[in-house]
Amino acid sequence: MKRLLGIGLLACSIQLSAASFEYPLQPQAIAPDTFVLEGKTEDFSKENGGYIVNAAYIVTNDGVVVIDTGPSRRFGEQQRALIEKATGKRVIRVYITHHHPDHFFGNQAFADLPIYALPETIRGVQREGETFSNNMYRLIGDWMRDTSVVAPNQEAKLGREVIGGHELELLAFKGHTPADLAVFDHTTGVLFAGDLVFNQRAATTPHANIVDWLASLEQLLKLPFKVLVPGHGKVTQNDQPIAQTRAYLVWLQTILQQAAANGLDMNEVMATPIPADFKEVALAQNELNRSVAHLYPALEAEQLKPAKQAE
Ligand SMILES: [Zn+2]
Repeated sequence: MKRLLGIGLLACSIQLSAASFEYPLQPQAIAPDTFVLEGKTEDFSKENGGYIVNAAYIVTNDGVVVIDTGPSRRFGEQQRALIEKATGKRVIRVYITHHHPDHFFGNQAFADLPIYALPETIRGVQREGETFSNNMYRLIGDWMRDTSVVAPNQEAKLGREVIGGHELELLAFKGHTPADLAVFDHTTGVLFAGDLVFNQRAATTPHANIVDWLASLEQLLKLPFKVLVPGHGKVTQNDQPIAQTRAYLVWLQTILQQAAANGLDMNEVMATPIPADFKEVALAQNELNRSVAHLYPALEAEQLKPAKQAE
C-alpha cells in the first residue's frame, strides 16, 4: 500500500512539473492579422522561464510569418502550436531581429522552415550561442531542457517583399547589437523594432554601441508607422517608447562620459541616482549596473590614453 501510494505521488509530481512548463502565451491583436505575445518586463528567472520578450506573428494569405522565437525550445514549440491552432494556418517563415538569447532560442521548433536574419546576427549566434546557452540553463533551469543552438538558416534580404498580401520591408540597423533587424509592415503600419526600442523597461547593453543606436532611433522615427512593437514592454500607437529609449541612452552615455572624465571608479558610477524620468522604468538600477560593467572599461581606457602630441 505504501509503495502504491509512493508511485501515485511520483506520477502526480511528474504531471505537475510537466504542466508547470507551460508559458502563459496570450496573443494580443494589435492590428489586422497581427498579434503579439507580450513578455514580462523582468529579468530572466526560473519563474518566468525567460518569457521576458515580445514575439509576434502576422497572418498572411500564404501562411504565418513569425518574428522572434523566444527564449527556449519549449517556448518555440508552444508558440508554433498556439499559432497553428489559433489561425488554422501553417507558419511559413521566421525573422530573427538580433542574436540575443531571449529572441532566438525557440528556433529549434522552426528548424524545418526558412529562418531569416542579418548576416552578422547569424555569425553572432554561431559565435556566442553556446555561451548564451550555458547562461540560460543557469538562469531559467529546466525551461531550457533539450534546447540547443539553431542559427538562422537564411540571410535576410533587405527591402520590400509582398508575402500573402502583406508588404513587408526589412531594414538593417545597429547599435543594440552589431546587427538589428526591423520589420515594417506597410500594409498595416506595424513596425517591429526588436530591441532597438524598449518600453518602460531599461535597455540592455551587452553588445551596444550607443552612438550607432541613437542614429538608428532617428531613422526609425522617420518611418510612417501606426503601431510600434518594442522588443520589451507594451505595444504603442505612438513613438513614445522611441523617445524614452533615446532619452535613457543619452543619459547613460552622458553619465558614463562624465564619470570617465572625472576618474570615478565603477562602483561610484553605479551609485549615480536614477533620474525621476526613469524611476518607473523596470530594472533601471540593474541595467545601470550592467551597463557600467559593459561599457565603462572602454571609456576609462580612452581617458587614460596619453594626449596626442602637438605637431
Ligand atoms: Zn536584445
